[in-house]
Amino acid sequence: MPDVAVVGSGPNGLAAAVTLARAGLKVHVYEAAPTPGGGLRTAELMEPGHFHDICSAVHPMALASPFFREFGLSLRIRLEMPEVSYGSPLDGGRAALAYRSLERTAAGLGRDGAAFRRLMSPLVDRVEGIADLTLNQLLRVPRDPVAAGLFGLRTLEQGSRLWGARFREELAPALLTGVAAHAVSPLPALAAAGAGLLLGALAHADGWPVPLGGSAAIAQAMMADLEAHGGVVETEARIGSLADLPPVRATLLDVAPPGLIRLADGRLPDRYRRALESFRFGNGACKVDFILSGPVPWAAPGLADAGTVHVGGTRAQMAEAENLVAAGRHPEQPYVLVSQPSRFDAGRAPEGRHVLWSYCHVPAGSHVDMGEAVIAQLERFAPGFRDVVVQYRVTTAAGLAAYNENYVGGDFGAGLMDLRGLVRRPVLGPVPWRTPLRGVYLCSSSTPPGPGVTGMPGFHAARYALKEIFGLPVPGLRP
Ligand SMILES: Cc1cc2nc3c(=O)[nH]c(=O)nc-3n(C[C@H](O)[C@H](O)[C@H](O)COP(=O)(O)OP(=O)(O)OC[C@H]3O[C@@H](n4cnc5c(N)ncnc54)[C@H](O)[C@@H]3O)c2cc1C
Repeated sequence: MPDVAVVGSGPNGLAAAVTLARAGLKVHVYEAAPTPGGGLRTAELMEPGHFHDICSAVHPMALASPFFREFGLSLRIRLEMPEVSYGSPLDGGRAALAYRSLERTAAGLGRDGAAFRRLMSPLVDRVEGIADLTLNQLLRVPRDPVAAGLFGLRTLEQGSRLWGARFREELAPALLTGVAAHAVSPLPALAAAGAGLLLGALAHADGWPVPLGGSAAIAQAMMADLEAHGGVVETEARIGSLADLPPVRATLLDVAPPGLIRLADGRLPDRYRRALESFRFGNGACKVDFILSGPVPWAAPGLADAGTVHVGGTRAQMAEAENLVAAGRHPEQPYVLVSQPSRFDAGRAPEGRHVLWSYCHVPAGSHVDMGEAVIAQLERFAPGFRDVVVQYRVTTAAGLAAYNENYVGGDFGAGLMDLRGLVRRPVLGPVPWRTPLRGVYLCSSSTPPGPGVTGMPGFHAARYALKEIFGLPVPGLRP
């Protein structure tokens, strides 16, 4: 009989499971899908020998996460580090490039180079303090108050109409907006600016890694550790109710709030259930995966070396696309997030071939196929792109929601990422992972610190379960 049941094997379910198994507890993970990993799956979606990341692809958050640092992720799997973390193409064959070196980045930004350096350099210098502030428990005194102050002031600037005040040209603003737009929100906005500045600082401090073999390698490393400590992962095991689980002492749920309501089967106190019912989800994504007969023929040279490319043009054009999505519309010229993993991991595709990963934002629940709009944006900045497309496959927002029940309406953040969504996740309080049912904890990205492959929601939930149910300290996680 297990001590602990974990429902869902996404990065957060696995982070919780690993932590609890390392503490000496017997852990059983139940996963609804035929393969484990949640947002960490890599598969041959179209043709044999071509490996596509179904959800996450690029992992700056994993590298910065206190959980994965303690777990020693970079000692367990190989992380390829592109020289250019990310870039933004502009019309006329130009591009802004975020090199790992901040100096080199600033040197490519024309008259705005010095202003960009002044914005980013204090954040890069204090990146650990900022990661601690944003990825750890929110309601507490920051470990590095100077980092918190510097980060806060810059977030206020880049998240408001002041965002252009220090810049005179198009390159630096496009670079910053490309990364802030990850947040799926109207622009400018405070939460988007905060996410963008954190990811931007990580690009220059550590880089934006791509795992050799795809994101599934991260899930495999976590499962190997779990199994080495007696844990079990059972797939094709959807849990419909907590009553279906064996009588364990603690249950950790890698599910979104509607999943918790279903699983609790009427056992939640009214006040808490109403709070979960009012939890807000964000807009969705339409994913487009490609098989290419060659690399993307970018007009701007440096983009071939970029792990991630934010395709959408100038700051104003990207903001317009994101603001249209926020207003419930499908932009004709969407902001497209592109990752080119086979440029850095030759094993992803047969010789000469490439796989390309992309998605754009769309209104929640959208059934619209954005394949043509995405191709047109790529063709705009990489003339001849259509000629290298061998095959592509579209997953609409509605398709993403059907693929993973945590992605309500296609929102893979499992909850809106605005300021309110950051602090009320899913409820306001010092321990939002704890539910009113004794021994039942929520551990998905619907809890702090939110989306991305960090393992931190799972780690925090496990920490509280260890303390409150088992009276055990947090174990070491080193390999
Ligand atoms: C297209 C896309 C691109 C992304 N790109 C990135 C990226 O590049 N970098 C990054 O850091 N993040 C990225 N993300 C986000 C990242 O994947 C998620 O934030 C992360 O996976 C959330 O982890 P989780 O453990 O909370 O939930 P999930 O990964 O969603 O896992 C939840 C698991 O629980 C299972 N489950 C749910 N209910 C039940 C039930 N009742 N019974 C049994 N099992 C159940 C689900 O099947 C699923 O496997 C991306 C996501 C998508 C969809």
